[in-house]
Amino acid sequence: MAYGPDLLIVNANVLTMDPDRPAASAVAVAGGRVVGVYDGRPDVTAAEVIDLRGLTLIPGFHDAHNHMIGFGLALTEVDLRGASLDEIYARVAATAAGVPEGEWVIGSGYVQTPDGVHPDRDALDAIAPAHRVWLKHTSSHMCVVNSLVLRDLGLDAAAPAVDGGRVAADAAGRPTGLLEERAQELVGRLTRPYPLSTLTDAVDAAGRRYRAEGITSVTEAGVGGGWIGQSPVELAAYVAAREQGRLAVRVELMVVSDVFHPLGAHPADGIETGIDLGLRTGFGDDWLRLGPMKIFTDGSLVGRTAAMSAPFAGDPGNSGYLQADADQLTEAIVEAHRAGWRVAAHAIGDRAIDLALDAFADAADQHPRPRPRHRIEHFAAARPDQVARAAKLGVIAVGQGRFASELGDGMLAAVGPSRASWLYRQRSLLDAGLVLPGSSDRPVASGAPLLGIHDMVNRRTSSGAPFNAGEAITAAEALRAYTWGSAYASKQERVKGSIAPGMLADFAVLSEDPTVVDPTRIAGLEVVGTVIDGHPQLG
Ligand SMILES: [Zn+2]
Repeated sequence: MAYGPDLLIVNANVLTMDPDRPAASAVAVAGGRVVGVYDGRPDVTAAEVIDLRGLTLIPGFHDAHNHMIGFGLALTEVDLRGASLDEIYARVAATAAGVPEGEWVIGSGYVQTPDGVHPDRDALDAIAPAHRVWLKHTSSHMCVVNSLVLRDLGLDAAAPAVDGGRVAADAAGRPTGLLEERAQELVGRLTRPYPLSTLTDAVDAAGRRYRAEGITSVTEAGVGGGWIGQSPVELAAYVAAREQGRLAVRVELMVVSDVFHPLGAHPADGIETGIDLGLRTGFGDDWLRLGPMKIFTDGSLVGRTAAMSAPFAGDPGNSGYLQADADQLTEAIVEAHRAGWRVAAHAIGDRAIDLALDAFADAADQHPRPRPRHRIEHFAAARPDQVARAAKLGVIAVGQGRFASELGDGMLAAVGPSRASWLYRQRSLLDAGLVLPGSSDRPVASGAPLLGIHDMVNRRTSSGAPFNAGEAITAAEALRAYTWGSAYASKQERVKGSIAPGMLADFAVLSEDPTVVDPTRIAGLEVVGTVIDGHPQLG
């Protein structure tokens, strides 16, 4: 008997993302790889045949920047998204009523009022005096705690200076409970590290949600340390999930720069700092691999902590700040490049973007290396000259489509009309010849890729205002970003991101073709199922 494919998918509207053959109607799979792409019904037999009856088949979505464990943990936290101050307090009170005194009440996703008012310690003390309350801002760049937590931290009465962050205080110098940027690490010391079993459960919960949304690959944007890492042994949670059959999607892990340390390698190796054993970008396999070093250069736009070259609108004294000394940040980027890492520099404000681009240029001059594919995460407020420079250096800008509707009004207010055209560029990046990935920064924003693609095309804020509409792209371009573009940003486009012989058999099945429906309907399309590693999971 001749060797045949395990799986044959027929009667499909296949959008391959392969420029040599953009459309097809059937796909054959064997051993977890695509072995044939066909027009019409192929003369092939397979162990399993799936007739899609005209549904659309695409490469599985790849979220190029998300926080998988953070999202998995947030699934168990009080949901504060879209809540007013009164609603926030009501939800905290209701949760505290069911939790023993002294335990934590953790909420996530809140936004300050339009006048800039955050929840405050005194109001939280009034409703939950005997609990430890910790409310995370939707940006992940700040949080609010109550007096019990401030007391644990020795911050009850006075606000010390914190490098790269701030303990906010009232006019009399008494902390208000708001902790910005690196000051959040103080709370992390009380709650972290989480035990591996908790983190493995979070990987499992997040992955199952991702699969249901058509996602087959994610890049996790920072593990191991800093204010964003959940445990120094976080990688082991992913390994455990995989061993237990609970890793639902393929994962590339960024490693937070805070855990880099001198290694004592031979001077000829050019590896001064890194992580133990010389592990670096590229180590791993198609399911679990090490991605870039993640380094934070600045903060958030909505929270007005991003490093700008001129002050925020209506806020003349505030141009934000860098998260560390500029020379130290530059040196960390150049050293990581030299040691063979891809680098993902979080840079939101144009001053931070300058720093990252300068560092990538220095790295290329001092230690030439072919196609390092360094990235700037967010690239949120970028001047026109910075687009041209990123293109010249081959630096990939990793934006978040869904921010338009969920955070767009706050971002427009932060930069003002004169800089609105700098925000979350797409069109100008493609026009400059750059590859555009797709990502969500979940749990900062909703992570379903069809929501992201909807916003990449429609570019409207939640109030209905246009969000830098000149940077809108077509649905076909957005779909390509969320599949092939993200694979490219992970240097994985030779194995995934398109449907062609030899590629991993990772697909999503959509109820309709996003490239032909009315663009305002994209968010409402359904994900009917996924295939990963050749294994179908159809609803
Ligand atoms: Zn992020």
